[in-house]
Parts: sequence; C-alpha cells; structure tokens
Amino acid sequence: MTIRQLPDTLINQIAAGEVVERPASVVKELVENALDAGAKRIDIDLEDGGIRLIRIRDDGGGIAPEELPLAVSRHATSKIASIDDLEAVATLGFRGEALPSVASVSRFRLVSRRPDADHGAELRIEGGRHGEVVPQAHPPGTTVEVRDLFFNVPARRKFLRAERTELGHIEDWLRTLALARPDVEIRVSHNGKPSRRWKGEGNLLSEVRLHEALGEEFVRNALRVDHAGAGMRLHGWIAQPAYNRASADQQYLYVNGRSVRDRNVAHAVRQAYSDVLFHGRHPAYVLFLELDPRGVDVNVHPAKHEVRFRESRLVHDFVYRTLHAALADTRAGAAPAPAY
Ligand code: ADP
Ligand code: MG
Repeated sequence: MTIRQLPDTLINQIAAGEVVERPASVVKELVENALDAGAKRIDIDLEDGGIRLIRIRDDGGGIAPEELPLAVSRHATSKIASIDDLEAVATLGFRGEALPSVASVSRFRLVSRRPDADHGAELRIEGGRHGEVVPQAHPPGTTVEVRDLFFNVPARRKFLRAERTELGHIEDWLRTLALARPDVEIRVSHNGKPSRRWKGEGNLLSEVRLHEALGEEFVRNALRVDHAGAGMRLHGWIAQPAYNRASADQQYLYVNGRSVRDRNVAHAVRQAYSDVLFHGRHPAYVLFLELDPRGVDVNVHPAKHEVRFRESRLVHDFVYRTLHAALADTRAGAAPAPAY
C-alpha cells in the first residue's frame, strides 16, 4: 500500500458527506451564511425540490472580489480567528466548510458585491474545478447558486428522494430558521412559482411568525415564557397541556440563536410537563435559551445540530424550574377543587 495525500476536491467531497446530506442541508448552510452576513431579506429559488437548483440571494455584507476564492476554500472563514473566538462564537457558522463542500458536489456559482463597491464579481466552480473571478452585475449582497446537487457523486444522488419529500425537508428547515429570525424576510419560490413568504416583522418576538409557523391553535394555547436566572435566560412559548402532540414535531429549541437537538433540555421540558400531560403525548414549544457562549460548546458536530453544555445539570434545572413554574396555573386548574 502506498500512502498518498488526497487532492483537495476529494477532501471536500469527503467533508461534504458530513455537512451536505440533501438539498435541505444546503439551504440551511446558505441561509445561515446570509444571516451571519446581516441579511434582512433572503430570496430562495428552488427547482425540483432543490435537486436541480438552489439559488439563495441575500442583501447582507457581501464578499470582496479578491476574497471569493477564499470563501470557497476549506477552513477559510471570516467568523473566527483564534481558539478564544471559537469558545465564544456568536455566529451560526465558524468551520469554513460549507461553501467548499457544497461547491465540490454541485455546479456552483457565487456572485457577491460589498455595499461600498461599484460592482460585483463572480466565481464558478464545477465539481471542484475553480474558474476565474470575473466582474458581474449584482446588487449589494450575495447570491449562491447550486445546480445539480451530487451530479458527480452517484452514490449520494441515489439517496435523494422525490421532489415533494426534498421540498418538505427544505420547508422544515426554513420554518426552524424563520422562527428564530422574524426580523428577516424570507421568500421562497419553487419551480418558478412563489411558494412561501415569511414577511419580515422587525420584531424578534413576533407572534405573527409563530402563527405562520405553528398555526393558530398553537398560538391560542401558547403561554409566554421569559425568565432569567443562574446566568441564563429562557424565553419563548410553550403550549398549555391541553394542546399536545402525538409526536415531537413541534419542539423547537434554540441555544444562543442556533437550532439544536438536546436530550438534556428535552428531558427537562418533559419533566416539567410530566404531571400535566398524558403519557405518550408530546408537548409543543418554541424556546430560546441564552447563556454565556463560553458555557456551551457548539463545535460538537460538523452539521452543528448539537451542543454540549459545560454545566448541563444547571441548565437542566433552570429549564425544568422555569417551565414548571410557567405551567403552575394549568396545574391549579387541573387539580380537583378542595373539599370545604
Ligand atoms: P463559515 O460560515 O463556517 O465561515 P462557509 O464555508 O459557510 O464557512 O463560508 C465561508 C466564508 O464565506 C464565510 O466565513 C463568509 O466570510 C463568506 N460568506 C459565505 N456566504 C456569505 C454570504 N451570504 N454573505 C457574505 N459572506 C459570505
Ligand atoms: Mg457557513
């Protein structure tokens, strides 16, 4: 056996295996980049459930022409520069992996213009082969175009599902991202037709968006939660026990603005509901947990779906106590009337 250094394109394709599972993961990464760039409006065009085309345009801070090649290089990021930054990371991205990964498994085009620049510039990559940076007209902001996802990775392409299914996954992710950022307008079109519009509310606590995302019944049954303590803050909405679900399909948890799955917190929520919810039913909630970024490690998984809390016991107790108290009234109502 001979040991050899793998070429960059192959390294990126291997990394893509972790970050890019399907069109929805591309949409997630690109929308997160737009949000990190300070976008207030994001336009998403999809074709064939994102398999044929994902095009995302934002009005954020843009990328300078000379930095376009860097943006699509592995481990190149503007978001952290040191281990200290990593420990206190406040952006959604920080690994510098998404663009090179996506570019290595698609026909990829990046066009961007900084607000203070006269014109924009474009860089195309096909199956990892870089073109030249050329001038291109573009309003301030960035467009990323991803065509024919996995066209050069047949094993991956095989796992893509029907258009409807892939579109459903994309919509799930957009709902998750949109719930956390009602101040940003997001418009989606599919196969040339407008399919979804998240109107910008300019308000980080928008019940309008809550309504759009989870429906009227959730909102009618929602209890507003906002509690600070132990160096943390938990806010958002939890459904009264009367509104419950057959599955955990309406459980949204954000840690410092990032949507995550966390067993520890999910357990704390379940426990808070344990005496007011029928066995086998699931609570519905949209909860934002804010804490010192140094108390939470976000670098656990390439796709960043999980975090690790430094003091998970403390987090558990805080969430449990906050929600248990928030549900106190429903508990009092449910209890039998005292006999006197
Ligand atoms: P990360 O988000 O982890 O930094 P990415 O590969 O997703 O890595 O992006 C690489 C870099 O490209 C980012 O750090 C950012 O500087 C730049 N970039 C990507 N997308 C955008 C965008 N929509 N607007 C402005 N800059 C962007
Ligand atoms: Mg990113």
